[in-house]
Amino acid sequence: STGQPSSGQLITGQLSTGQLTRPAVQLRELTRSFDGRTVLDGIDLDLPAGQFTALLGHSGSGKSTLLRAIAGLDQKVTGSGRLTAPERLSVVFQDARLLPWRRVLDNVLLGTDGEEKGRAALAEVGLKGRELAWPNELSGGEAQRAALARSLVREPELLLADEPFGALDALTRIKMRALLRELWERHRPSVLLVTHDVDEAIVLADRVLVLDRGRIGVDLTVDRSRPRGEYRSRLLGALGVT
Ligand code: ADP
Ligand code: MG
Repeated sequence: STGQPSSGQLITGQLSTGQLTRPAVQLRELTRSFDGRTVLDGIDLDLPAGQFTALLGHSGSGKSTLLRAIAGLDQKVTGSGRLTAPERLSVVFQDARLLPWRRVLDNVLLGTDGEEKGRAALAEVGLKGRELAWPNELSGGEAQRAALARSLVREPELLLADEPFGALDALTRIKMRALLRELWERHRPSVLLVTHDVDEAIVLADRVLVLDRGRIGVDLTVDRSRPRGEYRSRLLGALGVT
């Protein structure tokens, strides 16, 4: 159902939500400009259900803009296609965005019921015993674990993550990568992970996209039986790093 993109407004009924379970996301001619400067220039993208996809790109290439559009948070994007219904979607940002006046478990449960599920999610991310801690008692890594638990408990069809480990130290980042992959293997949401780290993309994702000049310049499938170095040099080349 491809429609004509118009300028300035999201076309309700064309970029609609909740009508599809497969693929999780389907975008046609997605376009977004800021003050006459085109950041997303007619993007076509399908995210199949259950796929782990990474989105690479230079700083300022429009990764967060694309993620916000897919999250349904941008009313000014144009194009057509289908998004995941908001209630089937979770978003994780670079900062955990926990509410400081609520304990960890209450942050996880926010807007949902089922305390047992919340406790189970915290146990899954390694925060068993920290249910009653306050957010400011958590390290950066622990806060991101809590943010992942908050996402999990909603059993999302699509998990969007915008540089979720970007603010963490190198060792914590490695642990969190492993945790994210493990959670994905267990629950199988579609994941779109925005990162500027080529190695993170290759280690985690089964498909890697590069956003360049408003378009998806590279769309490659990662075969885990092949040496990572091949993908690494291709992706670095696509990013203009040689
Ligand atoms: P990335 O996440 O890849 O670093 P962004 O999506 O944040 O890039 O930004 C892409 C471009 O769009 C940047 O040039 C940025 O300045 C611009 N941009 C993003 N959001 C806005 C906004 N709300 N108003 C004006 N310009 C914006
Ligand atoms: Mg960004």
